[in-house]
Amino acid sequence: MKKSDERRHVLSLSGGKDSAALAVYLHDKIPNLEYVFMDTGYELPETYDFLQRMRAMLGIEIKVLKPKRDFETWLELKGGYLPSPFKRWCTDVLKISPYELYIGNDKIFSYIGIRADEDREGYLSSKDNIIPRYPFIEDGLVYADIENLLESSGLGFPEYYKWRSRSGCFFCFFQQKIEWVNLHNEHPDLFKKAMEYEKVGKDQKRFTWSQEESLSELIERKEQIIESFKDKVPVKLNGPNGRKLVDILGGCTQRACIVCDL
Ligand code: SF4
Repeated sequence: MKKSDERRHVLSLSGGKDSAALAVYLHDKIPNLEYVFMDTGYELPETYDFLQRMRAMLGIEIKVLKPKRDFETWLELKGGYLPSPFKRWCTDVLKISPYELYIGNDKIFSYIGIRADEDREGYLSSKDNIIPRYPFIEDGLVYADIENLLESSGLGFPEYYKWRSRSGCFFCFFQQKIEWVNLHNEHPDLFKKAMEYEKVGKDQKRFTWSQEESLSELIERKEQIIESFKDKVPVKLNGPNGRKLVDILGGCTQRACIVCDL
């Protein structure tokens, strides 16, 4: 990787494996690197645990950035209209705005953990003082290297990868149906909370997290979902033989964006 100039250097952690591996990769190379985490307030407990582990094991400070208004306030302002892949208002207000506010007008390098074996676009700020940098792409690091960085540093993977394939809010609409079933098993309280945001009454517009059905309808056919998942991928749930759901679903999971899932 090329030497950089006097700008600030910022790495935004999503709570996912790639940005964590990038922290491992860079923390000796860029001593003044700033680590930030945009906390929607609706992250998984495992994510907070993982960030705590990163602080302890890498000896870094992670600045937690919060949105000015929380999700519930935004939801009210949006008339109860849940965010979806087609109307993804949440990323802007919960993640991108707090980040850009934190950066202000400073000129910075913003480090992004997209790997050399991936074909996806990163968060490209419309602000020209924020210059994206892609060290894994520049240096040709692929998935096996990320695994190696995490395992050899002792950090390992976030625990949620055993039952879910991506980081982000517990109610994220990018989850596959099997991941909703897993959320119900792992965190029934969070599943119930996600249900409360849906509007499924007969006299009102229907707003649901998962396409075509509400969470209560989805969980009623839990066994069927587990069965259909087994048909697609012939393994048990919850990471048998050390496999993580990110490995199993990785190729077929809809990728949200690198702000939330990296
Ligand atoms: S994780 Fe999902 S729900 Fe949360 S801000 Fe990102 S896209 Fe929206």
